Formats: sequence, structure tokens, C-alpha cells
Amino acid sequence: MTVENKMLIELSDVIAVEYMCKKCDTRLVMTPERWGHLPSNCPHCNEIENWFPRQDTSIREMTLTLLSAISRLNEAKERMTFSLRLEVKSATTKSG
Ligand SMILES: [Zn+2]
Repeated sequence: MTVENKMLIELSDVIAVEYMCKKCDTRLVMTPERWGHLPSNCPHCNEIENWFPRQDTSIREMTLTLLSAISRLNEAKERMTFSLRLEVKSATTKSG
């Protein structure tokens, strides 16, 4: 038998976002009050390489758009006639 659990999160469940450096795995957690301030680079590596490079502003724009949309949809929750949840990957359990 295969049991598949669906894991759904409401936007109001999002209490912070986590940036993780792909080089050293250092994590930087930011709560919604700080979402407008994107981290420039890894606080541990402190390399010159910028997480949001000036030559490619699309990453910056998409990140700000996503974070802003989460905040704004949360604020509009009472006016909405539906709830929006994100389905995320979850473990599949096999037994028997
Ligand atoms: Zn790093």
C-alpha cells in the first residue's frame, strides 16, 4: 500500500523566508517586516559575489514580487472568497 500525504500551507503560515548560501549553507532568516530589504550577499562567505547581481535584476525583481504578493494576499485574506494554499512536496510512505 502506498500512502501519500498532501502537505498544504496557507500563506498565513509563512512566518519568514530563509535564504541559504549555495556555497557554505549559511542560512539567513527574514521575517515579513524585512522582506523589502534583500540581503546583498552571504553573511558568512562575505564574498564579493552578490546574491542579487546588478547585471541580472530579474532575480531581485522576482524575489521582491513574490514576497510582496505573499504579504499583500495575507492582508487581503478577509476580502477574498477563497483561500489560497501552496502544496509542497511531502514524504511518501510505503508499507506492506
Ligand atoms: Zn556562504
